[in-house]
Amino acid sequence: MLRRTHTCGELRDTHIDQTVRLNGWVNSYRGHGTGLVFIDLRDRFGVTQVVFDGEDLGKEILDAADHLRNEDVVAVEGKVRIRSGGENPKLATGKIEVVVSKFELLNKTANPPFLPDDTQKLPNEELRLKYRYIDLRRPAMQKALAVRHKVYQVTRRYFDENGFLEIETPILYKSTPEGAREFLVPSRHSAGNWYALPQSPQLFKQILMVAGCDRYMQICRCFRDEDPRADRQAEFTQIDLEMSFVRREHVVDMIEGFVRRLWKEMTGYDVPPIPRMNYREAMERFGIDRPDTRYALEIADISDIAARSDVAFFKEALASGADRPRFNSKRGVVKAIRVPGGAEKLTRKMTDGYNEFVRGFGAGGCAVVKVNAAGEFETGVAKFLASVKDELKSALKLQPGDTVLFVADAYAVCTKALGELRQVVARDMGLVPKPGSEGGPWNFLIVLDFPMFERNKETGKWVAMHHPFTAPNDDQAEAFVAADVDDEVTIEGIVSAGYDFVLNGQEIAGGSVRIHDPRVQSKVFTLLGLTPEQAKEKFSFLLEALQFGAPPHAGIAFGLDRLVMNFLGTSNIRDVIAFPKTQIGADLMTGAPGPVTDEQLRDVHAMAIRPKV
Ligand code: ASP
Repeated sequence: MLRRTHTCGELRDTHIDQTVRLNGWVNSYRGHGTGLVFIDLRDRFGVTQVVFDGEDLGKEILDAADHLRNEDVVAVEGKVRIRSGGENPKLATGKIEVVVSKFELLNKTANPPFLPDDTQKLPNEELRLKYRYIDLRRPAMQKALAVRHKVYQVTRRYFDENGFLEIETPILYKSTPEGAREFLVPSRHSAGNWYALPQSPQLFKQILMVAGCDRYMQICRCFRDEDPRADRQAEFTQIDLEMSFVRREHVVDMIEGFVRRLWKEMTGYDVPPIPRMNYREAMERFGIDRPDTRYALEIADISDIAARSDVAFFKEALASGADRPRFNSKRGVVKAIRVPGGAEKLTRKMTDGYNEFVRGFGAGGCAVVKVNAAGEFETGVAKFLASVKDELKSALKLQPGDTVLFVADAYAVCTKALGELRQVVARDMGLVPKPGSEGGPWNFLIVLDFPMFERNKETGKWVAMHHPFTAPNDDQAEAFVAADVDDEVTIEGIVSAGYDFVLNGQEIAGGSVRIHDPRVQSKVFTLLGLTPEQAKEKFSFLLEALQFGAPPHAGIAFGLDRLVMNFLGTSNIRDVIAFPKTQIGADLMTGAPGPVTDEQLRDVHAMAIRPKV
């Protein structure tokens, strides 16, 4: 084989007159039957123009060149010369071409179902996933793989420099009620018993701290059998971290340093000191615990003013469920978003849509007011707000041309509805850079002081807001251990030592200080409704380990796929994974998941309920 001396992206005018060899795929060809054949030869590194000139070549080679088709695999040897037809500025190799003297057809391709050509409209994604090896030949996909590779390298370097050990943890694990539904694997040796694939290496990394490893990192695969969502895969990758002898601020500082390094190396951007915000403030101002801080559109509580207005549904909401004023209160509130310039941009159709949209979150509707050029309120509810117009104008700092959106409901409903609506309005107002506009702006935020527990909406039971191994904030630990599990107000008020890193409204990393005191851990299990027997059965290894000298420890995990999506400016998670699955978990290339034989099932002591055909 004529093995390459250079890649297809390497040759420049400094190589002129050198004899070189190239290997690659035929990206395009021109000039069949003219005695002069031009081929663009492609490999992972680029494209080089190759010329077959009939005047200098034997008939055999020219014939072979004449029969080449896209995606044939070839080797050529030839001399580098200045490109005869003038420079092609679109190619890094555009100054030169290679004039072939020797040629070898390494492999003839079958007729490809599509061409890996980024300049053409892509075929539908199913076809691309089925023939993933052709799709991955596209330069855009090669770039995605390379960007992902670079994220791994920067990550490993940073954490290595900071004393972290990379340690692998098992994939065949034990079923634990951590939150998500698990993938199960039957055991052949132990009839009737099952492994689960890990949702994350959470407990292993904690145990590594008990084991004295001090600082752990792993770029690991996690598995959650969750319902399909556009930006999720059931099998995804985390940058998983844990540190010993630290408190919250130490982990947060270490991770802030990592974010700064990663962005600098990936994009050249110097991340400024990342602002910190507590959960409560995030919910008050933005209605969500991962606010997108690229735009304002803040939410204001105008309950006091609304109470003096003549808007009937404001008053109804305010009168409802006037229970104790606490964060998860069912007490009614009236909240508003001021949209500068909304009067012109937000059409009636759009605001009618908002009304429907907030209903989807259980709110009664969304009232709209426009401020006209004279500073007067317009639209339906305007006249019912007349008595409080000036108060509203000064509280919300209203200007002519603004639109104001109001929702009145229980605190949680109102906050959620406006938090979601805020994001829609931002898009409609053109305040959100489109995915694909690489390079941000990047707005980071660290969110702290989450409640430790919340009530599951369906079951009414307490659930851990982060996960059951998250510690209460240092100043709350004793109060928590002492608290009566039925003392709802106290439990609800316990703040955890969890933290999230948020980028442009996405949670890119989440973690916490862990419980290292078995008393606190048992209390959490009790609160979550696990009997001591159940806790023992599921987590005895953890509870046991905590008794044998567990150091204070804390950690965090980043969603790696999402990081890469940000660096590439794509909103499709499948673009950043070499072999992704469809929304229902199918691998269209290999056909997984697929049937197995009865014998295989017998081996693992399992039975299949086969769908009726
Ligand atoms: N194990 C957690 C998760 O997967 C992250 C952490 O707390 O470190 O979300």
